[in-house]
Amino acid sequence: MVNSMSIDQLAGSAISIKGLSKWYGDFKVLEAIDLNIDNGEKVVICGPSGSGKSTLIRCVNGLEEHQEGQIEVEGKVLEKDIKSISKVRAEVGMVFQHFNLFPHLSILDNCTLAPLTLRNVSRQEAEETAMHFLEKVKIPDQAHKFPSQLSGGQQQRVAIARSLCMKPKIMLFDEPTSALDPEMIKEVLDTMVELAEEGMTMICVTHEMGFAREVADRVIFMDSGKVVEMNTPENFFSNPEHPRTKLFLSQIL
Ligand code: ADP
Ligand code: MG
Repeated sequence: MVNSMSIDQLAGSAISIKGLSKWYGDFKVLEAIDLNIDNGEKVVICGPSGSGKSTLIRCVNGLEEHQEGQIEVEGKVLEKDIKSISKVRAEVGMVFQHFNLFPHLSILDNCTLAPLTLRNVSRQEAEETAMHFLEKVKIPDQAHKFPSQLSGGQQQRVAIARSLCMKPKIMLFDEPTSALDPEMIKEVLDTMVELAEEGMTMICVTHEMGFAREVADRVIFMDSGKVVEMNTPENFFSNPEHPRTKLFLSQIL
């Protein structure tokens, strides 16, 4: 008989971070971070500005180099060489605060560029995939427009669709709604909730605590490069343990 415990073990870690430390020059930005994220798990990271949240998730897909510790993604150790970084990046999609769409390319071309250049797919297949994900984020009718012709919320949904076109197993979100006007935040969060419900493994840096309550399996609070507190959303919000977490929550809730 296979019990639920061993099913979890069979599912394995999507991301395993052990003893991760990173410096920018003399400044230690991350200090001995340990974090395991299971397949399908959703983790929300919050914490004050400058606490190292972006740096941590940028390390996970090799956008930043780390100096100590080990990062494993889908069982592959992230090494410094570009081959290893590319292997890891193939599994990991990332969405940034400022969308980072290519302004000179149409929405459709934004979505097909990476599959056409990095994966051996035909233009027809790349376009079909792009349209599939643009429909998913509810803007197929914008496919032939340029990013500047779209609202911020629409652009961010394109950025999500563009990432999904590479069929990642893990999605990293770095404050995806913090550059958006309030009325556009919901449409982006709705897209993220849908993705979560479909079982995507997700790390989301966000201060959208409603999203954290609804979607997160765990909430992590970072301060000064350290994981200060990690808990289920229920416990995190109703019974924060660390004084820094309490202070932070009192400021944002
Ligand atoms: P957060 O996302 O939590 O706001 P960051 O990871 O962006 O924090 O930054 C953590 C700290 O590292 C901040 O003090 C920031 O100024 C510093 N930092 C970020 N990127 C760099 C860089 N490329 N070079 C030097 N310092 C950096
Ligand atoms: Mg940041």
